[in-house]
Amino acid sequence: MAKTKLDSNLTCRRIVAKFGTSLLTAGSNRLNIERMTDLVNQIAQLHDRGVEVVIVTSGAIAAGRERLGLTKKAKGVALKQVLASVGQGRLMNIYERLFEEHNVTVGQALLTKSVLVDRAGYLNTRNTLLASLEMGVIPIINENDVVAVDEIREARFGDNDNLSAMVANLIDADLLFILTDINGLYTADPNKDPSAKMIPLVEKIDEKIDSLVSGSVSGLGTGGMVTKIEAARLATASGVTVVIANGSEKDVLLKVAGGKACGTRFLPVKNKPDSRERWLLSGLSTHGKLTVDDGAALALKKKSCSLLAAGIIEVDGVFQRGDIVDICDVKGRKLGSGITNYTAVEVQSIKGAQSGNITDLLGYDSGSEVVHRNNLVIL
Ligand code: GLU
Repeated sequence: MAKTKLDSNLTCRRIVAKFGTSLLTAGSNRLNIERMTDLVNQIAQLHDRGVEVVIVTSGAIAAGRERLGLTKKAKGVALKQVLASVGQGRLMNIYERLFEEHNVTVGQALLTKSVLVDRAGYLNTRNTLLASLEMGVIPIINENDVVAVDEIREARFGDNDNLSAMVANLIDADLLFILTDINGLYTADPNKDPSAKMIPLVEKIDEKIDSLVSGSVSGLGTGGMVTKIEAARLATASGVTVVIANGSEKDVLLKVAGGKACGTRFLPVKNKPDSRERWLLSGLSTHGKLTVDDGAALALKKKSCSLLAAGIIEVDGVFQRGDIVDICDVKGRKLGSGITNYTAVEVQSIKGAQSGNITDLLGYDSGSEVVHRNNLVIL
């Protein structure tokens, strides 16, 4: 199937649309076919107008629960994995049938974090997704819940919000829709505070935004607002605009793609990172953390300097020379990521020291910067 030319009235060319469980079930215990039909109709229209679309879908566990006649939320990893294995095929079957009505071909991709942590796995997955889009196929992605468990360190995304941001980072999308059952980000919890107002535009995800969402959770899905903001942070840092909106609003995908304001829009960083920088920022292969003092934080943010030992006050994790580390300020906020010239043990010994003293402290010198600015991406 060949690709259609992009309709110039649309404001996006490549999108990731994430559908959460509470949206797909319309708040019930089972998948809501009417809701899914509506979402598929909108995606098919965008596809028909030349937009490249990748769907990240939840709902496998809900579909499994329905098939097995369980009414309560699943507890325990093994049971959830059984439900996901029962439900994933059913979920795909529904998408397959609904897209068939529009003569659109879909493909299934079940991803785990451990696959993407490996740079070769990241690139292979990207190649498959981009080749699918090239052929006019819509990839439908979910986490491979059957094999991914928390116990294996960093092997699991755990929620599809973060997975969707990673996919947007991976395929260089220009727009990530996180569709859910609430209208967007509010100044307070709208269920508890009637004066809560929706925030239409977020230019930067700062401490104020973080403090609005801490502690929020939602119904059957795994992610509350916290994971949505985490996802928005990664996606916007990767150069992707993010819209969190209510998937039950009529034609919400078509409206946003046409440039209308719906839900909360998060603006991307101004300088779009290239593929290597997006990989650094993704956090997939991060081995540790360097905490820097205020002076170093300012220098990194304002002047895109290298990170010197003198500004480092704390070292976390076990990393080798050449590994990716996160750089955080004293409040623990991530400033960026970079490739370190020194191991964790070495940084422990040289932190706070002037670059000229490195040889005295270690007996050798692997460079006057701990992270050179060419190997550094600042958020
Ligand atoms: N992968 C899970 C499912 O398909 C959902 C995870 C989530 O909603 O964040 O049921």
